[in-house]
Amino acid sequence: MTLGPDPAGRRHGEATVALGLGSNLGDRLSSLRHGWAAVCALAGVRPLDRSGIWETAYVGPGGPQPPYLNACARIATSLEPRELLAALQRIERGCGRPPATHLQPRPLDLDILLFGDRLVREPDLVIPHPRLRDRAFVLEPLAELDPGLILPDSGLTVGAVRAIIRAAGGPPVRPLPGGTLAWDGSDG
Ligand code: AMP
Repeated sequence: MTLGPDPAGRRHGEATVALGLGSNLGDRLSSLRHGWAAVCALAGVRPLDRSGIWETAYVGPGGPQPPYLNACARIATSLEPRELLAALQRIERGCGRPPATHLQPRPLDLDILLFGDRLVREPDLVIPHPRLRDRAFVLEPLAELDPGLILPDSGLTVGAVRAIIRAAGGPPVRPLPGGTLAWDGSDG
């Protein structure tokens, strides 16, 4: 769903950023919607488009967890990657996520998946997101936005990586019927 100017029509000094949103604790849909609304309200951020909502069973390390709801969205931003990460972490905390809950159930998880074609390799910030290529629950909603989006670290498209992950099998990822990040349930 496109919300504003095409990503290619971004303004001078802005980067197009793909975000991943996830929740597996509490009212998951409300948390995702709160999170997306808070991102859209950040200074220096313009929303571009957003996927539908996808549901996935948790299969990662650390024992059983409730299933996740996930979505992807794109923004245009004049923020630097580290400024955006700090803002996303503030939003996560505002949504009730305590710090240091890596690999634990959480009401809201916000990840920077892609930041234009930039490559960032720092101890606490890696872009493209290090686990993007392994996660069907990221690749499916991201491909909804643009299967031709290129991952700058490999040159592969999101659609090509999704095909690899689909062929490998894995935990089922299914679209939540009618699921949308909009509060009114609209896709507009
Ligand atoms: P998680 O619990 O999976 O949300 O991981 C949170 C940690 O991942 C934080 O300490 C971040 O500093 C770090 N991190 C590294 N790269 C990224 C990224 N691209 N987006 C969000 N968090 C990241």
